[in-house]
Amino acid sequence: MTRFERLRLDGVTRRFGGVDALAGLSLEIRRGEFIALLGPSGCGKSTALNCLAGLLPLSSGSIWRDDTRLDTLPPEKRGFGMVFQNYALFPHMSVQKNVSFGLQMRGVPRAEARRRTADAIRLVHLEEHARKLPGQLSGGQQQRVAIARAVVVEPSLVLMDEPLSNLDAKLRLEMRTEIRRLHQALGLTTVYVTHDQEEALSLADRLVVLRDGRVQQIGSPEEVHTRPVNRHVADFMGYRNLLPGSADGAYTKINNTGVRVKGTPIGSVSDGSPVVAAIRPEDVSLTGDLEATVEVAEYQGREIAAEVRTDDGLVLHVRTGQRHAPGDKVRLGFPPDRLLIFPADAS
Ligand code: ATP
Repeated sequence: MTRFERLRLDGVTRRFGGVDALAGLSLEIRRGEFIALLGPSGCGKSTALNCLAGLLPLSSGSIWRDDTRLDTLPPEKRGFGMVFQNYALFPHMSVQKNVSFGLQMRGVPRAEARRRTADAIRLVHLEEHARKLPGQLSGGQQQRVAIARAVVVEPSLVLMDEPLSNLDAKLRLEMRTEIRRLHQALGLTTVYVTHDQEEALSLADRLVVLRDGRVQQIGSPEEVHTRPVNRHVADFMGYRNLLPGSADGAYTKINNTGVRVKGTPIGSVSDGSPVVAAIRPEDVSLTGDLEATVEVAEYQGREIAAEVRTDDGLVLHVRTGQRHAPGDKVRLGFPPDRLLIFPADAS
């Protein structure tokens, strides 16, 4: 393994036909860190990963492993392991052969290769399947082979591009835990691409939120989740209620309604300026004094997700532990520490 302290991306930019798919990504990754690149479809996540891997040349910027410049090196010289959503296993080779292939290519002596292959297979709990072909395995098992194959060569960095997107909900959860466990057990450094905020929050030490090729926010899961820097990150982090309004002293007047709410300003919000008030469904209180009627109620196990409408037509998403049904009256409140006020024109 090529030991390193830091991997640094410096203004990494990739253009396709005049459009910046990735515009100036700068990021320092510490050894052992788990970084998630997160954002909606088309925001540049895969482009960033492919630039790191060496599968796409940069339009500008540079990539460094400590003091070694990496972006001029071909993929195989970078020493990274990769796991993609379509596992890309060799169909005619057994699990064992798939896993040991990289070691063979690197000329690792046989006995050592055998030991490391067995270790990697044990790590992903596939001992009983070592002699099977990929076609004889379930999706989750194949995904584990792909992970074993990536980590067996002890890469300095593991790159994962939506590795769980082809799995069903239950397996996704299991594999998520598995990936985090492996990351810790092997002391890997991982860059993980996903559009699933829950996956990113639960796996990563730090999130990099992208939009239109640009970094919106870099921070711990808690930072990004509770203190999104703009309304786009808020939107992506589950602040489903984004209410356009205007600043009115300490309050926000919600457009086209008589509703006034008090929240926590994020960025500079001057009196009279257009703002967006953001709050998550689960943070809307149902013991306030704004009357609303339940229009849609979705049963979600422990809770009901409901869409409610106030008398002057403001529609909000809420969550409730009560068994509310359409037509029920509720009384909404907005805890000021849960309601974030963003300048409307923030990009
Ligand atoms: P998804 O989650 O859908 O995979 P993403 O965030 O990974 O999306 P990218 O695949 O990095 O997004 O694409 C970023 C932008 O660059 C998109 O607008 C995409 O259309 C464009 N793009 C990506 N690859 C190419 C290419 N080979 N040629 C032209 N445009 C491309």
